[in-house]
Amino acid sequence: MAKALFIIDVQNDFIEGGALGVTGGEAVAEGISRMLAAHPDAYEFVIASRDWHDPDNDNGGHFAGDAEPDFVTTWPVHCVAGTWGAEYHDDLTTNAIDHHVRKGQGEPAYSIYEGVTEEGGTVRELLDANGITRIDVAGLATDYCVRASALDALEHGRRVRIITDLVAGVSPEASRAAIAELAHAGADLITSDHVDR
Ligand SMILES: [Zn+2]
Repeated sequence: MAKALFIIDVQNDFIEGGALGVTGGEAVAEGISRMLAAHPDAYEFVIASRDWHDPDNDNGGHFAGDAEPDFVTTWPVHCVAGTWGAEYHDDLTTNAIDHHVRKGQGEPAYSIYEGVTEEGGTVRELLDANGITRIDVAGLATDYCVRASALDALEHGRRVRIITDLVAGVSPEASRAAIAELAHAGADLITSDHVDR
């Protein structure tokens, strides 16, 4: 019975100044690091995802290419593998991360469950193998990858909590809707001072 933290896509391209920068992204990076420093025993496992797209194709239509991105299913080029935009933001304490997950290689992938661990397995296998039954979710963006990852964790039968002061979204309205949807689906909403519980 272990508890894990998902850190979703705290990457340069999703933070102010990046290709798809989210307002409040830098504060989320700083806030996650501050929370982990203040609560070093809150989690048995810290699992972080990165969007990690191919440089030489449109990743299954995920990149808009010559068309205008609609910012719903098509996006400007972002998080290309091996580039600055795909790296974790400098304010995120990466030495606390136990498992690194990459997703979106050649395809759209919003949920951490669609990714691959460094050992080449799935997140589902990683959670099952380590007896992780409780998952707190932080990161970017609330209305896309945080939402999709949390819904998959609920679907996977995990107890899920969203750390509401450690997420930020593309659209304020869609983010509020995503939080409401997650609460309705069974996620608990907490703030970062309650992670030890
Ligand atoms: Zn992407």
